[in-house]
Amino acid sequence: MSIKKVIIIGAGLGGLAAAIRLREKNYQVVVYDTSHTVGGKTKSISQDGFTWGFGASLLTLPHYIDELFLLCNKNPKDYYSYKKLDPVCKYFFSDSTTLETHASKEKLLEEFHYKLNEPKKNIENYLDNIDTIFKHTEHIFLRASLQKWATYFNLKTLKSIFNLWKIGLFNTMFQKNSKRFLNEKTIQLFNRYATYNGSNPYRTPATMNVIAAPEYLQGGFIMEKGMPQVSQAIYKLALEEGIEFVFDTKVDEIFISNNKATGVKINNKIIDADIVVSNVDVHFTYHHLLPNTKKPEHILNQERSTSAIIFYWGMSKVFDKLDVHNIMFSENYAQEFAHIEKGEVYADATIYIFISSKTISGHAPQGMENWFALVNIPHNTGQDWKTQVDICRKQMQSKISKHLGEDIAPYIISEYVNSPETIERDTLSFAGSLYGPSSNNKMSAFMRHPNFSNDIKNLYFAGGSVHPGGGVPLCLMSGKIVADLVE
Ligand SMILES: Cc1cc2nc3c(=O)[nH]c(=O)nc-3n(C[C@H](O)[C@H](O)[C@H](O)COP(=O)(O)OP(=O)(O)OC[C@H]3O[C@@H](n4cnc5c(N)ncnc54)[C@H](O)[C@@H]3O)c2cc1C
Repeated sequence: MSIKKVIIIGAGLGGLAAAIRLREKNYQVVVYDTSHTVGGKTKSISQDGFTWGFGASLLTLPHYIDELFLLCNKNPKDYYSYKKLDPVCKYFFSDSTTLETHASKEKLLEEFHYKLNEPKKNIENYLDNIDTIFKHTEHIFLRASLQKWATYFNLKTLKSIFNLWKIGLFNTMFQKNSKRFLNEKTIQLFNRYATYNGSNPYRTPATMNVIAAPEYLQGGFIMEKGMPQVSQAIYKLALEEGIEFVFDTKVDEIFISNNKATGVKINNKIIDADIVVSNVDVHFTYHHLLPNTKKPEHILNQERSTSAIIFYWGMSKVFDKLDVHNIMFSENYAQEFAHIEKGEVYADATIYIFISSKTISGHAPQGMENWFALVNIPHNTGQDWKTQVDICRKQMQSKISKHLGEDIAPYIISEYVNSPETIERDTLSFAGSLYGPSSNNKMSAFMRHPNFSNDIKNLYFAGGSVHPGGGVPLCLMSGKIVADLVE
């Protein structure tokens, strides 16, 4: 029997995971990418002796990466290592209270009790609840296609369906957490997890509390060489497995014949394939790569997740008050999200600062730090981003300086900036959204584009804009689901 050929458009994490898994099923796999390297939104940026990750920073569920290596009978440790962070994140509240979240449950409960007077039982109940939600949802929502009946016809899934009342579909995250915790700061801290997939805690269902589960129950991790190492390690494995990569090459169109994907068009040349997988944002895929195909407008026009303004700052000093991951909260979280809903940038937006150089040598010159300073803001609907970036820079510097007790501006010796406009331009994410459609609707998971086409045979989709969603672990799972469906 002849070996079937798969073409994958895009070497982002979804495309890479699909490539490895399809190769293991004995397909010939060729991956095309417009860029000169793998990784898409997890690539690295270097400037003036500093190195930053373009996007993703906190690593959770690293065993999803390991799975790819084990599948190929390789030892992940021969390719990379990662370590558990403790503390995981340092939180700064507007009244100057600070709090650290910890890998150990005892330390975590103690910190909330000591700093916020939050009863330990409340945190314990929360941890139990997110554990329950994760156990009942992972195998359905993360590891399988929601649009295939086969997903539902097994004992484990049926058992989970009977437990659906426990997963919090009928309250918002804010409502549930407000009832659960005593201290406003605890509520704000745990509501923050809605932003991990670009959603609004005042609208997203309480089920989304599950986002915190991997971080609190298994740990927050950091790759020894930073997040770009994930795609670089998978790329090395892919080459060893015989997967072919063609870089600096833009796929112009997916070629369709008799409602079947039969190849791709590059520079007016058709390259045949038995199966095509698009790892490109699904909106872009339909509008540019499938120009003559009927578009599933109800899916493509869903509300977008948030975008970000990110300052990649090279700092000429080490700041001892900061940890690897830091959050400086806004005083009024409800107002912050009300502004995002209106398409506006909030003046007191919550700031996230990630400093990989605190644990990874080489990411900043000696005695200096690489700051990745981000605020979550609305997606691109044509706002004046140049002005917004200038306003944001001033507001962020003033707020950070206040928390650290010194003016940070003189220490910024290098700057690179991303805004919704540049994120959209450079990553093709529709409207600059970081995670594709938002998860503000309780049916969102079912409304994301499936990993296959309903109308075109042999066409599949992987990556953050389709099921199961954005974020490193979920994109890796999209590749698994594609490979299972192809089979
Ligand atoms: C600023 C930011 C912060 C983030 N923070 C986190 C975080 O902390 N934790 C987390 O888990 N996730 C985070 N994410 C999300 C995460 O990085 C993404 O969900 C994930 O990396 C997307 O992977 P993907 O498979 O969708 O592919 P993408 O990364 O979107 O890659 C798609 C690839 O397709 C290529 N391509 C596009 N068009 C074509 C074409 N026509 N022909 C050939 N190739 C093409 C592109 O060059 C690209 O390499 C963040 C994202 C951003 C942008």
